Amino acid sequence: MPHKIVKKFETSFAEWMGVASAFAFWKGRVGIYAILKALGVGEDDEVILPGYTCVTAVNPIKVIGAKPVYVDIDPVTYGMDPDKIEGKITKRTKVIFAQFTYGIPPEMDTILDIANRHGITVVEDACQGLGSKYKGRAAGSFGIAAGYSMQWTKTWTAGIGGLVSTNDKDLARKIEAMTEDLCQPSFSEATLLSIQRFVHRAIIYPATTAMITNTYRWLVRKNVLVGSSTTAETEGRLEIDPHFFKAMSKGQAKSGLRQLRGALDRNLAHRRQMRAFYDQLLAERGYPKLEIPDYMDPAMVRYPVRVADKAKILEMANQKGVELGEWFDQPLHQCHAPLSVYDYQDGCCPEAERAVREVVNLPTHPRAHEKHGLKAVNLLCEIGPPK
Ligand SMILES: *Cc1c(COP(=O)(O)O)cnc(C)c1O
Repeated sequence: MPHKIVKKFETSFAEWMGVASAFAFWKGRVGIYAILKALGVGEDDEVILPGYTCVTAVNPIKVIGAKPVYVDIDPVTYGMDPDKIEGKITKRTKVIFAQFTYGIPPEMDTILDIANRHGITVVEDACQGLGSKYKGRAAGSFGIAAGYSMQWTKTWTAGIGGLVSTNDKDLARKIEAMTEDLCQPSFSEATLLSIQRFVHRAIIYPATTAMITNTYRWLVRKNVLVGSSTTAETEGRLEIDPHFFKAMSKGQAKSGLRQLRGALDRNLAHRRQMRAFYDQLLAERGYPKLEIPDYMDPAMVRYPVRVADKAKILEMANQKGVELGEWFDQPLHQCHAPLSVYDYQDGCCPEAERAVREVVNLPTHPRAHEKHGLKAVNLLCEIGPPK
């Protein structure tokens, strides 16, 4: 049975979202796994998703035994190119993952229309989309269910963490039944994660992010910290770990509950302000800004921009203590195995691969302010956009 405080967080989150039910998990990917399992996705089924994602979004598909099928992205919205979806549909296609990338909604109307015509289920991967809107409707209200992440680089964080929302009664019943089988986090990992949350609040500022990210990844590899990914996960060893299907801890739920009382709304408003700031500043500098349609109203997790020399600008940012992100470092971000292990064939998504070479991103999180954004944009202007 999920703990009382976790139940309370689930109810409060569902209320905040305006959905019928929500379920909390140790990580976002565990929630996505629960959705796929509850939908009866299994061996020989195919799941369509953009070829520009986090390897952790692919893991649940592989763990369940289904095959990920990648669709190239639209170079403007970084979401699935709606014209390239239908060509990927086969008799085995069960699910289309409508992924919000950097917070930007995918072209939902087209995706829903294609899915309807082919009798395929749409699930929203809103791990980067919490608070975003498409034609006035909130992320999480389009598919049969949606998954969200509370990993520390996402919109809001509990160190790590994940949620699922759904308005579908039958699916909710199935997922609720599955939560009875969740294993509980151990005392030591829950405690360590609380300490990490505390340290994170104390030390993550724009000037320190790059150094801390490197140190964090190193400590996770050495098994000192509770990582967001185990080495087995990023290296493509996909046999299901008995501890994968894990519940949210009480500490994570408390952290989430605290944020639902105002901080999350301020966080989302800040992200919208930072987007407006970057739009204006880049336009003033004559640098190509984000040109998404007006009916997309994202709460940006990060603000993507293209540069002529990505490696060079990341190194300069690192040296100068300017926060600049590398998302994504490959079509399947943070994958340390050959991409073919995840059924991604090199060259299959050329726009995604070009984005990997060209895109860096500007910070929008609550501790990044205009002065930090200005420094990052100054650096961009030194390097310039791709020719
Ligand atoms: C982060 C992320 C996930 C996984 O979330 P975790 O909480 O780290 O498991 C899945 N999909 C996308 C698009 C993500 O960005």
